[in-house]
Order: sequence, then C-alpha cells, then structure tokens
Amino acid sequence: MLHVYGWNRADDLGSLSQPAQFSMILPIIKYGDPLLQKVCEPVTVFDKALETLAKNMMETMYAAPGVGLAASQVGVLKRLIVVDVTAGEKQGQLITLVNPEIINKEGEQYEEEGCLSIPNFTGRVRRPYRVIISGKDLHGREKIVEGEALLARVFSHEVDHLNGVLFIDHLGAIKRDIIKRKIRKKVRAGEW
Ligand code: ZN
Repeated sequence: MLHVYGWNRADDLGSLSQPAQFSMILPIIKYGDPLLQKVCEPVTVFDKALETLAKNMMETMYAAPGVGLAASQVGVLKRLIVVDVTAGEKQGQLITLVNPEIINKEGEQYEEEGCLSIPNFTGRVRRPYRVIISGKDLHGREKIVEGEALLARVFSHEVDHLNGVLFIDHLGAIKRDIIKRKIRKKVRAGEW
C-alpha cells in the first residue's frame, strides 16, 4: 500500500538524538484563526530550527492524537507537514515533508474526515485514492513519497492546509454552513 523512497525516521528526525528538553507540544490553532486560511511560504533554510519545529509538530500530532499536522496549525506559515496514519501506534511510520507537492493523483475516495483544528466535526470529502508527493526532507534532500487510501487522504488534507484550505471548504454549502453555525455557537459559549 505504501512505498516510501529515501526516507527513514532516524534520517528525517536526526535531532531525536539531541537532548530531548527542546521538544514540546504546541498549541493547535482552531477554525476561526485567520492563520489557517493563509498560504504558507516555502521553506528555504534547512536548519536546526526547522528540525525543532518538525519534532515539536510530531509530538503535538501524537499527543492530540492525530494522523497529520501542518505547520500552519501551530501558527507557523511554512510549508511543512508531519503525517503518521498509525497515529504513532507503529514505529517507523512518521513522514516529515518539507515543501510537499502532489505531483500525481489517481482514482477517488469519498470518506469521512476530520481536522485537529476543527475538533469534533467531520464530513465526507472527495480525495484522490492514490497520490505521489514530491518534497524535501529536513536536510533539504529531495524525496518522493507515494500513498494510497488513508495516507493519500491525509497527504491531500495536509497539503490543503499549506494552501489555506480546510476540509470544510470541500463540503457542500449546506453541510459547511451547519458546521460553521455550530462553531459560532461554541465560540459565543466560550467552548471553542
Ligand atoms: Zn486538518
């Protein structure tokens, strides 16, 4: 189902061998925060700060728990995503991608999906069944990742985030408005 080229966890998160005190769980911003609708900037500097951000995003995703997280969800407008469709259940499944770009899409799936920035809401979204993504690792090396089924869905969802697009933007107007109305109600009640 999944073929990953030129990647392994240790290679990607070399900083894991560094002192652990620098990693932390970051607050995830929620729908309504304008940062979620911004287009993220490509990463041009592959430094320690990028590694630390990726590591913190990984911890944040696992703590949520979630299967994917985009940098914009922690308020950083950079093109960086972390994905693990096992939500940390299985080792070696973490995929960190810098400047990811979907270069090929095939087929279709129409499944229920949610978002850590829109907690407790889901909707059925049409996504490609299989995608090939090109991007870079944390050291700026090119990598190509292929995913299908859930992985293709998560990749599509996270790359959307980098373009300021949320899953509710793919829903029909009625369903989307219902969710937005419920969120507004939660905001008024101080529950968001
Ligand atoms: Zn999301």
